[in-house]
Amino acid sequence: MSKIRFVSPSQLDTYRRCSLAWYYSKIEHAREERVAGVLVLGSCVDVSVKSIVHAVRERTGIPSPADAEEECRRAWASELLAREGTPIVWGERADAAKSLEIAIGLVQAFVALPDLGQRIDRIVELDLKVDVPLVNPLTGLSEPGLRLTGILDALEKSPKTGKLRPLDWKTAASRSAWSDPREVQERLQSGLYSAAVHQLYGDAASDEMSYFVGMKTKAVTWADVDVELDETHRRRALLTAIHVAGAMSAGIRVPNPGFMCGSCSFLDRCRTWHETPASDMKRDIFAA
Ligand code: SF4
Repeated sequence: MSKIRFVSPSQLDTYRRCSLAWYYSKIEHAREERVAGVLVLGSCVDVSVKSIVHAVRERTGIPSPADAEEECRRAWASELLAREGTPIVWGERADAAKSLEIAIGLVQAFVALPDLGQRIDRIVELDLKVDVPLVNPLTGLSEPGLRLTGILDALEKSPKTGKLRPLDWKTAASRSAWSDPREVQERLQSGLYSAAVHQLYGDAASDEMSYFVGMKTKAVTWADVDVELDETHRRRALLTAIHVAGAMSAGIRVPNPGFMCGSCSFLDRCRTWHETPASDMKRDIFAA
C-alpha cells in the first residue's frame, strides 16, 4: 500500500474505531452495502444549520420555524437522493419518519435560539479548509510528506477572550457522551483542530475548542460544550495522528467487532475478510 499523505480527524477516528472498515472505505473505495440512519440524520441537521447560518450572514434574517422546516426537508430529500439504492439502517428507537421529525425539531430549535444572532456574529469563517503540515511535537519538525487536512465547521471569536477558536456542530443521542470534559479534551478532533488553528493563527489562536451539540433527547435541545486545551492535549493528538498514519501506511487492518457492526457499510464483506492475503503490508513492523 502506498504511503498515506493526508489525514483528517474524522479519517483517523474511523481507523481507530475499525481499521478494516476504514480500509474498505478509503483504500478500496468499496461500494457501501448499507448506511446508518443516524448518519443521514446528523448530516441533514449539519447541512440545514450551515445553510441557515450562511443565509443569516448574507443578511437575509433569521428564518421562521416554517422556513427552517422547509430547509430541513430539502436537506433530508437530498441526503436520501445521495444514498439512493443503498439500504438505510434506522435504529430501533427511530424509523425514517421519527428521524425526520427529530431533525426538523433540532433545526427549529436552532433558529429559535435567543442568542442566535450573536452566535453567528462571532463566526469569522464557515467551512474553514484545513491543510497544514503535520508537525511532530517531539522534534518540532514536519513529518515528511504528511499533512493534516479537514473541513472545520467554523472558526469563531471566543466570547471569553476574543481569540480564534474552532467550532464544530454535532448531534448526539444523549448528554452523557458530552458530559466528561476530559473525554472531550482528548478527542482527536479537539486536539488536532486546536493545533491547526495555533499553526495558522499563532498568538491570535485561543486554547478553546467549542462544540455546539444538538441533543436528540425527548425534548430536543442545543448545548454548548466548550473545553480548554493545553499543549499536552495538542501534543497527544498530533503524536496519535502520526502513529495512526504509520499504521495506515503499513497496511495494517483488522476487524474490531462492536456495537457499530450492525449498521457497518461493509458487514457482509467483513465476514470473509479472513480470506484476504496480507501481502501488501510494506514492512515488518516488529523488525528491530
Ligand atoms: S462489521 Fe464491524 S468489524 Fe467488520 S469492518 Fe465493519 S465495523 Fe469493522
